[in-house]
Amino acid sequence: MNHYDLILLGAGHAHLGVLRRWALVERPPGRIALLSAGPQAWYSGMLPGLLAQRFGPEECRIELDPLCRAAKVELIVAQAEGLDPQQRQVRLDDGRHLATRWLSLNVGAEVAAPPQRGAAMQALAVKPFADFLAGWRAWQADPQPLAILGGGAAGVELALALAGQVPELSLFCSAQLLEGHNPGLHMRAWGHLRQRGVRVREHCPIDLIDGDRLVSGEDPVWRGGRLLLASGARALPWLGHSDLACDAGGFVQIGATLQSHSHPWVFAVGDCASLPGARKSGVYSVRQGPVLAANLAAVLRGQPLRRYRPQRHSLALLATGDGGALMGWQQWSAGGQLFGRWKDHLDQGFIRRHSISG
Ligand SMILES: Cc1cc2nc3c(=O)[nH]c(=O)nc-3n(C[C@H](O)[C@H](O)[C@H](O)COP(=O)(O)OP(=O)(O)OC[C@H]3O[C@@H](n4cnc5c(N)ncnc54)[C@H](O)[C@@H]3O)c2cc1C
Repeated sequence: MNHYDLILLGAGHAHLGVLRRWALVERPPGRIALLSAGPQAWYSGMLPGLLAQRFGPEECRIELDPLCRAAKVELIVAQAEGLDPQQRQVRLDDGRHLATRWLSLNVGAEVAAPPQRGAAMQALAVKPFADFLAGWRAWQADPQPLAILGGGAAGVELALALAGQVPELSLFCSAQLLEGHNPGLHMRAWGHLRQRGVRVREHCPIDLIDGDRLVSGEDPVWRGGRLLLASGARALPWLGHSDLACDAGGFVQIGATLQSHSHPWVFAVGDCASLPGARKSGVYSVRQGPVLAANLAAVLRGQPLRRYRPQRHSLALLATGDGGALMGWQQWSAGGQLFGRWKDHLDQGFIRRHSISG
């Protein structure tokens, strides 16, 4: 069996930041590996632009091999399918087991889906991105009416990116559109969706996919063959079966040092972790990166750990599919091409910063 001092599990936003730091500054001592389901990390912020055909796939992902080589970290491309906290082992889908002194989880989450009866409707989840993009390409060849589940930022951006590419598009939200964002951003998003012919149904939770119908409560609310799932984060099931302390949703409970409540040799960040005040978005995962890098180096060197404090507010920049973007910050909102250029600048900067070769 292979023994490591540290395994970084998942090429999420925070781990990319850790690798970048270790590539540019000093890497801590020990045998370290990144375990990733694929050889590339897709950047979700650019996915709407990719679907709107504003970017090519190679502009929206980070090659992990050069980044790992620069950080002197082994890259293992395989899927983790279980953890044994007693033995400090990670089980892979190819049957291998990896033993490690320290583990850091940044594996994201999957997309929640309603129960389905029959196979008349094809449902395509927006994550994992590589599978989603392959599925979308197949659908693109034969455009048909489409429903999107999820009225959060991702659902709105996807609807605006795809509106002109299918004959009819409906967006279903279980609560209000862009719940938790300010009223100005809500109104602007409504305006853009209406203008692009998207039919929005707020407060319409989908409880069942029954044949070719979406059912809310007892009522059929949409009929068709294709459904895109962008309906919020659901914990990866194998984490819930791992004996790590998890919240009611199955996300790993962590403290301010980003360590698991129950197993301090395990760190967890990003969407797979549960910490009061930290929201499930890439922005929070990115901000956890520097503290995680410092703390992983500290445990490998036997030094004291830093504490992470989630920021109270985060900037929302939603792509409108035409090169523009909507901006929301606290109670303010704005929109237009200028914000689109700002968003592109930030997103492309993220890709550039992590495209390092050793
Ligand atoms: C269309 C869309 C647009 C979005 N836009 C934004 C945005 O503009 N700004 C923002 O802040 N958020 C955005 N989000 C939300 C954002 O995608 C997530 O909150 C964010 O990706 C979470 O980051 P993470 O670091 O937790 O992990 P992720 O970025 O989800 O990465 C997890 C990684 O772990 C890997 N992995 C998963 N399981 C395993 C396994 N078993 N074994 C090995 N590897 C594994 C995956 O392949 C992936 O590389 C968007 C989401 C969507 C769907």
